[in-house]
Amino acid sequence: MIKKKLGILGGGQLGMFICQAARNFGIYTTVFSTTKDFSAKDFCDNYIIGKFNDYKKIQEFIKSSSHFTVETENIPIDLLEKINNNKKIFPSSEVIKIAQNRLREKKFLNSIPGVKTVKFSSINSYDDLCSKLKQFKFKAIIKSCELGYDGKNQFIVNKNNIYSFEKMNLNNFIIEEFIDFEKEVSVIVSKAEKNIISYPPVENLHKDSILKETKYPADLNNKLIKSSLEIANKIANKINLNGVLAVEMFLLKNDDILVNEIAPRPHNSGHWTMDACKYSQYDNLIFSIFEPFVKEPLPQKSCKMINLIGKDFNNFDNLKKKYKCYDYFKNEIRPKRKMGHYVIF
Ligand code: AMP
Repeated sequence: MIKKKLGILGGGQLGMFICQAARNFGIYTTVFSTTKDFSAKDFCDNYIIGKFNDYKKIQEFIKSSSHFTVETENIPIDLLEKINNNKKIFPSSEVIKIAQNRLREKKFLNSIPGVKTVKFSSINSYDDLCSKLKQFKFKAIIKSCELGYDGKNQFIVNKNNIYSFEKMNLNNFIIEEFIDFEKEVSVIVSKAEKNIISYPPVENLHKDSILKETKYPADLNNKLIKSSLEIANKIANKINLNGVLAVEMFLLKNDDILVNEIAPRPHNSGHWTMDACKYSQYDNLIFSIFEPFVKEPLPQKSCKMINLIGKDFNNFDNLKKKYKCYDYFKNEIRPKRKMGHYVIF
């Protein structure tokens, strides 16, 4: 029997969990990592360390596998297209392209009937920021359109601090209305050739724009559960998903739901599925790649997932005595760096 082979772009904690799921199903993994020390190193069967523009290493990577996936959307689009042209990539480069750029993503989301986002506009300079801030009632959030994650390259702007942005390069930024939401929730969907499944909505708590906690089940009434699932499914269908997609949403006080962003890959707010569902988001990613059907997740128990960020990790050994803990094997503790997580049932 020919062994199934999966190439994974990125070797962080998401890549590590993808490798573990793949191993459970007997799939051979090759990770492409841009750094020497990476979380997935001891969990993959093979790895290539190099830059995304290193032609030889990329050729070697493309040769290594028949199927490919990503642990991040921040990968040069020409590389994704190159893989897409030669082999199968999950999700396709078209899907990842939409999620890579916040403007493109928001325009796409608003083109879907029944899906809405916050008000937004593009900015490219300090002058743009000044004129747009007025339109956004003097409280807004600006984010770089590309390569921002975990609160990187995003800032809250108001009347008092606007001057501090005068010297900043604001080329290719988006400005969004700053909203006073009631809750943040996310829904993860997985779609294979023949079916689509969704994980139930979870409630997310962010601190300094980084996910801190995810709670399952979310404290939502049935109508909101239904609407959040419908929105996520509409997006997955419209984008022609092949793989896994996380949809992050804001729930407003008047029960409106606005989509904040989408991530076409397993998501931090889905880590809980490894411990509380029959089939995790990583299992379903593997099924969506190698099987015609994905499987109903079948959640078994309520839980809370808590991220260990930066120095939180110093408490890891203590937490391990009480809770199910995960170490991401990062080479050093850095502020705002996700180092591990634990799950309370
Ligand atoms: P993002 O990188 O877009 O996921 O933003 C990270 C976090 O910042 C979100 O999960 C929210 O907690 C907060 N945030 C982002 N955009 C907005 C917004 N337009 N209004 C209020 N809070 C926001």
